[in-house]
Amino acid sequence: MKLLVVEDEHRIAGALKKGLEQEGYIVDVAYTGTDGYDMAATVPYDLIVLDLMLPGMDGTTVTKKLREESIHTPILMLTARGQVADKVAGLSAGADDYLAKPFAFEELLARVRAVTRRPRETASTVLSAEGLTLDITTYQVARDGTSITLSSKEYALLEYLLRNSGRVLTKDQIIDHVWDYDADVLPNTVEVYIRNLRKKIDIPFPDKPALIHTTRGFGYSIGTPHV
Ligand code: CA
Repeated sequence: MKLLVVEDEHRIAGALKKGLEQEGYIVDVAYTGTDGYDMAATVPYDLIVLDLMLPGMDGTTVTKKLREESIHTPILMLTARGQVADKVAGLSAGADDYLAKPFAFEELLARVRAVTRRPRETASTVLSAEGLTLDITTYQVARDGTSITLSSKEYALLEYLLRNSGRVLTKDQIIDHVWDYDADVLPNTVEVYIRNLRKKIDIPFPDKPALIHTTRGFGYSIGTPHV
């Protein structure tokens, strides 16, 4: 899951990035409303944590402009405590939820999880494909009951493949979703991580069908292709 944090207070932005990365999210940061808007309009994020009071363009305007351009990325708005009018303005502009500052990180995390889960309208927190399971709340991965240990990047890659099970994903799509903005990623890097993932989820199970498929010249997919 890739998140964008738009927050002009560098200390808060840094703490959010660090905390969310420890939870397995890929996090980009923007320090002005204008930069936040530009990034949200071009990169496919799973969620935007958006401060209300920002230089350049405030959070309500960013939300309104994104929604006008049919960008429906979920938005969690950060407001100052007691600014009820601002909260209402943010929600009516198209934000999905809000959180009043100051907040405990655990509370933010709970909201992030709730908002990112909401559009899928599923109570299940387990993604799966043909005997492989990935639990997004416990980070446990297993194939036919055998537990599998993944690095955080392998986990993020597998989660992205599973969320798009049966679809061929290009290397560019994978890079956009699994690596952050500052990362120096070459298409070859994706191949390396796919190979590592195969070593853990396919090669140790020679009697089972391979889960990760390569579509030469296009990209990679997991599970049975959609017909
Ligand atoms: Ca601010």
